[in-house]
Amino acid sequence: MRRFSPATINEWIQLTGEVNNLERGVQLLNVLVINAGSSSLKYQLVSIERNKAIAKGLCERVGSKQSTHKHGLDENEVVIDTYLPDHRAAIDCVLDTLVNGDDAPIRSLNEIDAVGHRIVQGGSYFDHSVIIDDDVIEKIDELSELAPLHNKAALSGVRACMDAMPDVPHVAVFDTSFFQSLPPKAYMYPLPYELCKKYHIRKYGAHGTSHRYIARRAARLLDESLEDLKMITCHLGNGCSMAAIDHGAAVDTSMGLTPLDGLMMGSRCGSIDPAIVPFIMDHEHLTTDQVNELMNKQSGLLGISGVSNDLRSVRNEAEKGNERALLAYDMYSNSVKKYIGQYIAVMAGVDAIVLTAGVGENCQKMRRMIFSGLQPLGIVLDEEKNRQRGFERIISTDDSHVRICVIPTNEEYMIAHDTYDLVHKNSQIMVCSQDGPSL
Ligand code: AMP
Repeated sequence: MRRFSPATINEWIQLTGEVNNLERGVQLLNVLVINAGSSSLKYQLVSIERNKAIAKGLCERVGSKQSTHKHGLDENEVVIDTYLPDHRAAIDCVLDTLVNGDDAPIRSLNEIDAVGHRIVQGGSYFDHSVIIDDDVIEKIDELSELAPLHNKAALSGVRACMDAMPDVPHVAVFDTSFFQSLPPKAYMYPLPYELCKKYHIRKYGAHGTSHRYIARRAARLLDESLEDLKMITCHLGNGCSMAAIDHGAAVDTSMGLTPLDGLMMGSRCGSIDPAIVPFIMDHEHLTTDQVNELMNKQSGLLGISGVSNDLRSVRNEAEKGNERALLAYDMYSNSVKKYIGQYIAVMAGVDAIVLTAGVGENCQKMRRMIFSGLQPLGIVLDEEKNRQRGFERIISTDDSHVRICVIPTNEEYMIAHDTYDLVHKNSQIMVCSQDGPSL
């Protein structure tokens, strides 16, 4: 394994996430970020020193004869039809492409210094990212009950990667860990207490890596400390969630035991009267699987509009006068507006509202609808700034009491950052026991 100079490590501590200025000449650090879904595997090779992805791609339909492997940065992306019977085959294919493919970013696997894995459900065990060992694997497996599709798939990816790269540290970064700071009054459900305890029923949240990333970046953009701010973060894409972040700690979030709770989404219903579930099951003679499918895949924008789960298509139809599309659009914005109100009450105020993901970053019309009428709360969208496109930006008026920011999310960067952070902490321990830092 490669060695790191103490200068790299010290600078990292000072920069706390800003890696642009790492000293030139120090050893590079490449972190492979793996996001394994039930039949997919997304990856990025992130150069910490260069602060950017140097390769990325996606294996789709893993396990089927139609599996494909997309690889490449943006316009250089190529799609290769490759039979990938399982995650192990997908990992082998990815590693081979990274080393031997056209424009291969690295010459050997020795240039991958650590691997960060996205894990959806960390339950109450993990309130931060951890280096993976047998105990961590056991706990992730145990938590599969709470996220059956996600945790099992992630573990397949972890095992395949550990076998292919047994000598590098592997780190688990959990979607849920950011929300372990929620107080019991926010994470408990008012069901029989014993049942909640018996089945670990509570709010775990999701999209935590995205909320954590955009909160940090927004504080930097505003040139303030996260610890001085009351923030509402909104991840608005196909999946949608919001979080109340009070002086740096998450105090509430919209997703719950599962990512079905909370806001109306592309095809998920979000919060509804729970009595609707047995009502529909009785009247439509649905099984639990069928009603789950209905709430997850046939509801939200798709269910109401009958057009699509994709907001752009719904918007196009609404502009042509389609009443149901218009209603879906209205309901989506209203759902966000109501959570803004809730979280202002929860934190007794708000300094900044931060938007991200496909809709939050790109859809000026949806942003206008979300913030319309909120001027009495000191939230004033600047129409001109709202029209502008760009990177991280403030889109509220200069005299708006509450700042509105748009921050493109980058969960992979956050995973790479956590991985580096943990690995360097680990290496510091080794500094004490050896001549110099090594991994
Ligand atoms: P995500 O899940 O973050 O990829 O976001 C997907 C959602 O973002 C879909 O509903 C897209 O229609 C929406 N989206 C992406 N780009 C735009 C855009 N330029 N205007 C409106 N919606 C967009």
